Amino acid sequence: MSRSKLRLTVKRLWASALAAVIAAASFSSCEGAGGAQKRTVFAMDTLFEQTVWGASEDLFTKTAGLLSQLETVYSHTDPDSELYLLNEAGNGKISDDLKRLLDIAAEVYEASDGAFDPGLGLVTQLWERSEGAVPSEDDITAALAASGYGKVSFENGEIHLNGVRLNLGGIAKGAAAGQLLYECICSEASGGIISCSSSIGLTGTKPDKSKFKIGVRDPDGDGNEYIATLELSDCILSTSGDYERYFISQDNVRYHHIIDPATGYPAQSGLRSVTVVSSGVSGDDDLFYTGAVTDALSTAVFVMGLGEPSLKLLEDFSMEAVFVFDGEIYVTDGLEDSIILTDGGYSLKTAE
Ligand code: AMP
Ligand code: MG
Repeated sequence: MSRSKLRLTVKRLWASALAAVIAAASFSSCEGAGGAQKRTVFAMDTLFEQTVWGASEDLFTKTAGLLSQLETVYSHTDPDSELYLLNEAGNGKISDDLKRLLDIAAEVYEASDGAFDPGLGLVTQLWERSEGAVPSEDDITAALAASGYGKVSFENGEIHLNGVRLNLGGIAKGAAAGQLLYECICSEASGGIISCSSSIGLTGTKPDKSKFKIGVRDPDGDGNEYIATLELSDCILSTSGDYERYFISQDNVRYHHIIDPATGYPAQSGLRSVTVVSSGVSGDDDLFYTGAVTDALSTAVFVMGLGEPSLKLLEDFSMEAVFVFDGEIYVTDGLEDSIILTDGGYSLKTAE
């Protein structure tokens, strides 16, 4: 990688620009087509869209309250959030809510051999703040040396970060989507889609009893083009893609937001995206957990690429996945009957 500071063409996805517009009006609602009730809440730097059939207003009051509660704990950017304050303090007692998500993050950290690393905050911060320039190799090496969830310890009921900065950006949105899905399942709704930028929860059916069609995004498209669709219900799915936050350097290298903890640079597994799909969910499950795991696994698998270790990791958590490479899609066998290619020129294979 080049050490010189390059003049770069910055291409960022809609998220940051749109976020600024939407933050001003953080809650909106409308009656959608087919009698669907739609509510949109801006939380945790993301738009949470709830499309639900047959629920009462109580559901939306509850989910709005939940999102604002989750934001006070997990927000990466709010200087008053518990996570932000902990990162500043470096140690202290933490709430049960923060501990709950950290425990899940630690589980995926261990299971993925550190490919998903919630202790990578110093490195991710370096890239996030670089404003379209590649950080210097020295800065990356120093940030990486001080990072890693393995350095974090718990003593006498307190967490000690030991110089590490936590980043739960690769897991918190999935957990929130899962929690919202749980509330939807426990309401009188006949069906619902809970969607934030990278995680989607599905329950029941549409009014015509059909399943939901979820698009697999064309990694080179403008965000509205799909290379395949998945017909699914009663599950949570999370996607990590190299098109979500990225810039292209003058020498045409794509620097995206998913970092390989082994190098400190954006992962180069050949994948353009990976979508991790949970097995069937119900109101008897801990969907905060399921959502968090699909989200963390999508990040981990994006780093690991397609191979025996990532397939084993998915199997250990009973998850299926769609792997997107340039021109090729691989699916685990549990999804073979759910995926339909569009005419985007991609070929479909079984991941094994
Ligand atoms: P996702 O889009 O779910 O893959 O999450 C990506 C976000 O998680 C990034 O924007 C970073 O904030 C953070 N992140 C990047 N690389 C990693 C990693 N290897 N492990 C954990 N979190 C990461
Ligand atoms: Mg993730």
